[in-house]
Amino acid sequence: MSAIEGPAVTREFENRSLIYDETYTPRVKELLIYKSRGLKSVKMEQTPLNLHWETVIKKTNKMLIELKQDPIAMEQNNSEERFSRRAFLSSMRTGGKKLVKSMAPASWRMEANEWNLANYFAGYQFYTVELDYNKCTMCKVCFTFCTQEVFHVTDSYLYIENDKCVNCTDCTDICQEDAIRIIPDIKIKSELRSPLFSKECQDCGQSFYSFQTERKKCPICMNRDPRWLSPY
Ligand code: SF4
Ligand code: SF4
Repeated sequence: MSAIEGPAVTREFENRSLIYDETYTPRVKELLIYKSRGLKSVKMEQTPLNLHWETVIKKTNKMLIELKQDPIAMEQNNSEERFSRRAFLSSMRTGGKKLVKSMAPASWRMEANEWNLANYFAGYQFYTVELDYNKCTMCKVCFTFCTQEVFHVTDSYLYIENDKCVNCTDCTDICQEDAIRIIPDIKIKSELRSPLFSKECQDCGQSFYSFQTERKKCPICMNRDPRWLSPY
C-alpha cells in the first residue's frame, strides 16, 4: 500500500481540532469517525485549505447535516501546542482504545474500505443495497464474498441488513448478472426482507431458491452452456 500511495502521514491534533496538513488528504469516513469521537474543527495556519481538503470537508459536513450533527468548523491555528493523533484518540474515553488499534497507520488504509460508519452513528445506514429481482438468480456468490454478512436467508426469506454494508463493492464486482447496486444514502437504518420460492432443478434435481415462482433450473444449470456435455 505504501509503495503505491506513499507512507501514511501521521495526523496531528490540538485539543479537539485536526491540524491541516497539505501533505495528505483525509477520507470522508476518517473525518466522520473522528467527529463521532469528539472532533470539533480543522485548524489551519497561514495556508488556506487546498481543493482536496475543501472537497472532503464539504462532503463530510453534508453527511453530518443529514445525520443531524454539527458540521466540522474551520479555525485559524494560533497555538504551538499539539497532540499526536494517538494522544487525541486516547483522550476519547468511549471506544478510544479500540479506535486507536483499528486505525494504527500500518493497517489504516488497508482497512479503510471495511470501516463501518454505522458503528459510529447508531441507528443510521450509510448505504442501501439494491437488488434487481428480475436479474438476480440467487446464486449466492455475493453472499459468500460479503465480509460484513449483510445477506442471510432464513425461513424462505432473504434478509439484507443495509446498516452493515461498508460499500466495499465486492458484491457488485463479483455478480455476473449485474443484479446488485450499492447506493450511498444516509437513512434511518432498515432491513429488507424478500420472500423466496423453494424449488427443485429440473436438470440436476438440486434444491434452490428463486425470486421467481416460474423458474425451473438452478443457477448452475441455467448458466451452463448447452453445447457442453451434460453431467446429468
Ligand atoms: S451474485 Fe448476483 S445473481 Fe448471485 S445472488 Fe448475488 S446479486 Fe444475485
Ligand atoms: S458492498 Fe456488497 S460485499 Fe461490500 S459490504 Fe456491502 S453488501 Fe457486502
